[in-house]
Amino acid sequence: MVQQKIEENRLTQQDHDHLWHAMHKYNPDAPPMIAAHGEGSWFTDMEGNKYMDGVSGLWCLNLGHGQTEITETAKNQMDRLAYFPLTFSHQPAIELSAKLSELLGGGYRTFFSNGGSDANETAFKITRQYHKQTGNPDKYKFISRYRAYHGTTMGAMSATAQAQRRVKYDPGVPGFLHVPPPYAYRSTFNNPEQDDEMAASLLEQVIIWEGAETVAGFIMEPYISGGGVIKPQSDRYLKRVREICDKYNVLLIIDEVVSGFGRTGQMFGYMHAKGVQPDIITTAKGLTSGYLPLGATSIKNEIYETFKENDGNNHFRHVSTYGGHPAACAVALKNIEIIERENIVERVASLDEKILSQLKELESHPYVGEVRDIGFLYGLELVADKTTKEPVSDAYIGSILGACKKKGLILGKNGDTVPQLGNVLIIAPPLTSTEEDLQFLVQTLTEALNAAR
Ligand code: PMP
Repeated sequence: MVQQKIEENRLTQQDHDHLWHAMHKYNPDAPPMIAAHGEGSWFTDMEGNKYMDGVSGLWCLNLGHGQTEITETAKNQMDRLAYFPLTFSHQPAIELSAKLSELLGGGYRTFFSNGGSDANETAFKITRQYHKQTGNPDKYKFISRYRAYHGTTMGAMSATAQAQRRVKYDPGVPGFLHVPPPYAYRSTFNNPEQDDEMAASLLEQVIIWEGAETVAGFIMEPYISGGGVIKPQSDRYLKRVREICDKYNVLLIIDEVVSGFGRTGQMFGYMHAKGVQPDIITTAKGLTSGYLPLGATSIKNEIYETFKENDGNNHFRHVSTYGGHPAACAVALKNIEIIERENIVERVASLDEKILSQLKELESHPYVGEVRDIGFLYGLELVADKTTKEPVSDAYIGSILGACKKKGLILGKNGDTVPQLGNVLIIAPPLTSTEEDLQFLVQTLTEALNAAR
């Protein structure tokens, strides 16, 4: 016990002295949460406190901790072949690319990278090169949606339209534009009923105003996740977006980094809109359930074909040392095998209804403006006044998150889109969470909110 305390103090000191945490504000008085052990949807910190991880790490730990089939797969693969670049080839990458094509309905080819930002950067470069070599050299602009998050690198940050994440790093990469997403609760058009249609029409209008001959691609998540769990009223929106992209020869890039691999109750989020097929799909996170880093950019074969032309001179001049690492690809294959074998996608779709109806009851709370869901991804938009929809303060949402943490539940909130709009409490539990885990989550959150009326 004494030894344990000494070890904890040593790590805490070194953490304070040397480790730069992601996103966190400097606070010398706050001890770091040092995780020691994970089991299913739960983890234990060094002091022995147990927490349910209600946000799957960073929305990636889809199958939870302790999947020994996955860890054994990684070890076996590393014992067999520790590393090999994809300038050549190896079995796990070949098989994973074929599996992804099958899951996407066939006809896709995949370029592997290391994560979500990387996968989106790859998509942008493929898109620009594709247009250059198909007679449209002036097409270079990308359109994305306000409140979207697409990653941290300069291109992906430029597609990210959350002012607070950019203000210290702008200007971003030239050629990135934004349009509002459909968001009936705060309809940009003051017209919740027509919000989807008007958001799609504005996309078309912006393409026309910019000059369609300059617009290369439109990138969107099927459902905005980190920006506040924002979704259209119906699948018609994505169908309209597909029609508009077709009309103006704009590639439709769907960012499935969060929504992929079952999170929304479909294997991929775009699949809720039947009949829509994206040109490019980017995945990461749930691709390996976070067990190892991996990103994937899956491209329709028709697009790839143009990279073979001109005596091979059209080849894609892009390489990633660790992208498609053999162990990461083997882990992804095993992860997908478990998702399919355990019917995880169906499980999410059926359990979601019950959880949603319980969370919806919280709309009677004076500060819960709207509860939104997309499978195992829930957002509670907290407002100080339900009529004006004035967001709650940072301190209020912080107190709810703090109260949940005290009771052993970790939840999250959306990034500070603009000041004061970091007011959506986010829940994204592992897809393998037991019913008991989920009840603990709902119960704990309900208690925390009721104590703060
Ligand atoms: N796209 C989306 C929708 C994301 O949520 C994220 C990460 N939160 C990314 C891209 C970037 O992924 P990564 O952090 O793996 O670079």
